[in-house]
Order: sequence, then structure tokens, then C-alpha cells
Amino acid sequence: MNRQAILDILAKTYPDAGPELNFNGPYETLVATMLSAQCTDKQVNKVTPALFARWPDVAAMAGATADEVYPYVKSCGFSKKAQNIVMACRQIMTQFGGEVPGNLDDLQKLPGVGRKTANVVYANAFGGDAIAVDTHVFRVSKRLGLADANDVLGVEKQLMQVIDRPLWSTAHHWLILHGRRVCTARNPKCGDCPIASLCPSFGAAQRRQGSTDQSAPGSL
Ligand code: SF4
Repeated sequence: MNRQAILDILAKTYPDAGPELNFNGPYETLVATMLSAQCTDKQVNKVTPALFARWPDVAAMAGATADEVYPYVKSCGFSKKAQNIVMACRQIMTQFGGEVPGNLDDLQKLPGVGRKTANVVYANAFGGDAIAVDTHVFRVSKRLGLADANDVLGVEKQLMQVIDRPLWSTAHHWLILHGRRVCTARNPKCGDCPIASLCPSFGAAQRRQGSTDQSAPGSL
């Protein structure tokens, strides 16, 4: 079956796939993941050492103000991120006994934590089975025919059906790496792709770009 063959190739191509964010424990995982929204992991990794040195745990961050935190994280965008991190830690102190909750429902109750962030924290900090659908996972899984839903939650549910549960978290990292390195949003490197022979979208992006205005953004 193509899907299994595709997953086998991804596994062989990205044997060391894993989080590219640097973190240690649930608190750091939560904060780093919140900062990574619409920011590169590389940039997050630049700011978190000083951030975690100043506020090393939930209790410390809960005692900070957003204005104090913002200068540490402003290169990751949005002043709202600093506010959400502080507010999330305060909520963890008041509602969860100072421990980052280890389940998806409670994680999503925290300010600034949507389903994708919750899935990442659940998988990376707690070893939970989850598939976080970011822009790379969404695009690549649809190009490969692993999913065809038009919304993030739909794609997540379809991937959970076609991928064995123990592989959910790892497969998420395979798809991200493939999206970053080969199956990029614009000009995917189909000619260098190890899955090309199985991919229903082989060459499609190039054909589309060749037949339309090449400046059209955001195409799958
Ligand atoms: S063949 Fe092209 S579209 Fe298909 S997965 Fe590879 S890079 Fe992406």
C-alpha cells in the first residue's frame, strides 16, 4: 500500500527526526513551543537560554510581568506571546498545582495554547501520542495523499487513522523535516524527493506555478 511505503521511506530518510527546539521538562517545553508559533525553532533556541535562566520554572514565570518578559522574547514576535506565557504560568499555579498539565484538554485551557501547541507539548513533554498539524504537516500530508481534509483538525484525524498510533509523534517530525528540506511550500524539490515515485503531487506545484502567476502565495 502506498501509504505504508511512503511512511517507510520517511522513516528511512529521517531516522533521527525529533524536536528541533531545545527544552528540558514540561515547563520549558510549553514556553518554547508557545514561542515557536510563527517563529523559527532556531530563533526560539537563541532566546530561551536567557529566558529560562531568569525564570527557571512555572512559579518564577508566574511572578513575572509581561513587560519584564517581552524584551527576552521580542525577537520571536508578538508582545502577546509574553503575556500569554506569564498568564499561562499563573493559571498553572492556581488551577493545576504548579504542574504543567499532562493532558490535551487541560493544556488547551491555557492562554495562547491551541490544539497544535497542546499536541506538541503533550507529545514532547509527556510522551503522549499526538500529531500536531503545522503548516508543513498540513501541506506535505495532503500532497502525499495521506490526507485530503481542508482544515487542520480534519487532517489531524485522517493522519491518526492512516498512521499507527505509536508512530504519531515521530511521523509528525518526519513530515515537518520533509516539508522544510524537500517538499517546501514554493518550489518543492520533486526531482530530489525520495518519495517522488509514490507521490500523486509530483511536479504539480511546478506545473501550477508555470501556468499561473508565479507570485501567487500560499499554494499547496
Ligand atoms: S514529489 Fe514533490 S510534491 Fe511529492 S512529496 Fe516529494 S517534493 Fe513533495
